[in-house]
Amino acid sequence: MKRTLGQAGGKFTGLAVVLMLAAVLFFPGIGCERLKAEKLKEAAGQNQRLVPDLRSTNDYFQRREKLLKTIPVQGFFSAPRLNASETNVDRLMDQVRSLETSNFNRLGQFPPAQMFFHVRPAIEGSRLFPIFQRLPKGGLLHVHESSSGRSDFVITNIARRADCYIGWSTQPGGPRRGRLKFTNAPPADDGGLNGYFPFSILEARLRSQGVVLTDELRHLYMLDETDLQEDKVWAAFGTWWSLLPDLMRHRPVLRDFLRDAFQTFHEDGISHVELRVMVPVATMFDYHAGGLVNFSERETLQEYLAARDFICARFNPHFSIRLVLCGLRGHTNSDAATVLGKVREYGNYFPGEHLIAGCDFVGNEDGGRPTLAEVPAIRAATAQAGAPIQFYFHAGESARPGNDNLVDAVLLETKRIGHGFNLFRLPALEPLIRTNRIALEICPISNQLLRLSPDLRTHPAAGYIHRGLPCVLGSDDPAIFGNTGLSYDFWEAYYAWGLDLRMLKQFAESSLTFSALEPDEKSAALARWHNQWDAWVRWVETQSF
Ligand SMILES: [Zn+2]
Repeated sequence: MKRTLGQAGGKFTGLAVVLMLAAVLFFPGIGCERLKAEKLKEAAGQNQRLVPDLRSTNDYFQRREKLLKTIPVQGFFSAPRLNASETNVDRLMDQVRSLETSNFNRLGQFPPAQMFFHVRPAIEGSRLFPIFQRLPKGGLLHVHESSSGRSDFVITNIARRADCYIGWSTQPGGPRRGRLKFTNAPPADDGGLNGYFPFSILEARLRSQGVVLTDELRHLYMLDETDLQEDKVWAAFGTWWSLLPDLMRHRPVLRDFLRDAFQTFHEDGISHVELRVMVPVATMFDYHAGGLVNFSERETLQEYLAARDFICARFNPHFSIRLVLCGLRGHTNSDAATVLGKVREYGNYFPGEHLIAGCDFVGNEDGGRPTLAEVPAIRAATAQAGAPIQFYFHAGESARPGNDNLVDAVLLETKRIGHGFNLFRLPALEPLIRTNRIALEICPISNQLLRLSPDLRTHPAAGYIHRGLPCVLGSDDPAIFGNTGLSYDFWEAYYAWGLDLRMLKQFAESSLTFSALEPDEKSAALARWHNQWDAWVRWVETQSF
């Protein structure tokens, strides 16, 4: 059938050319007609080049090859060229991936197609996982402060502090179960399981009933198979806050939590972190000589700098941080005027540190206040005197039709976009995002656990990368996801989207290029990162796979 149509098409083309030539000869004055004729001729030629002659096997495969070459990875991700060593590493990694993917598929257990909490051990068992752990990742640009650390650290360290008491009740699902309370006055003990207890006492009483406290706390703090619906996952974020209300308020706890989080990032090859922090920031408390002491918002922000200095002094003198201040969509204290006011106020606290990068609004986009509702207040605030405020909007963290927060994020000239998952519904924005160099902060594991893309192979970022949209990888809420650093997200993206080393390199490099670092800091960080990358490539080449 196709051959017949092709022949008919050929006849039609021949006839059309004769008619057009006749038209040009007999009506030479009709310039636009001539132009049209040339266009038709050109189109006919192109069509001829694309449509294979099905009678010839060679012709089909030659044209197929030609077609594939006309759709290369565009612009952004095709930029980095690989040297001989990198090409070798690219080949080695691809070979391991192919082998492991075949094995996973044979068993019907390809990890990116399953929920992260089920496949974490399988990822850790991959021969490429240690390679990803050592990969210099540059910056982590999308992570939230209270869930930036490790739940395991909360369970093994914070929950065992002498001033920490763990809430429990005999009522399954009671709101007190797993709640941590920090006090210098031991709560009353009923001798049973209702109330607040030191870790060791609660652990012993539960053990006598065959219950393991650490398993219970893991279940309460982290997502698992009981959180299977999208709304339940959003509820889990609220549960985290309600069970750990003083995590970011009790000064020694905040200090330990941040230091552990930053050290975990450093050990995962991350040298720069931009944390989303809720405003107004939590005011801390502590106990001195038996009395309660309260601290200011400025002192809370100082703790972030102190945690950075802790890492700089011990592990990496160039470790850097920035904070993106966030309002909670629709929350009383989170209107744009308050959030923008705090951006200006906090920005003046530590001159020379450039600690505050800008602002954002977070929360469930499908159930919360849209970005559009904040536009009048944003316009009013930005019209005021003072340094311009930069935006880093969460937008498009949704798979549902009708969410157009991305439109407002682009119109408000956001520097980066948190997620941008539903950009596939708004293709008209793609040229603007590309031209204005707005990076999408892609968080694969987060998007999977929120059920935006339960099978990561169908995540739209695979297409965004091939269409040359600037992208970086983020971990979002690693404590709640049972994730740490960025290695798991890199591994999932590499296996699910068929990335190559050029793309991995671009992801890492872009995380510094699109960071909020000052220009001189950025070029120094990029120079250091290039050296680390070259060292990593040399190291991978020495590994036996
Ligand atoms: Zn986020």
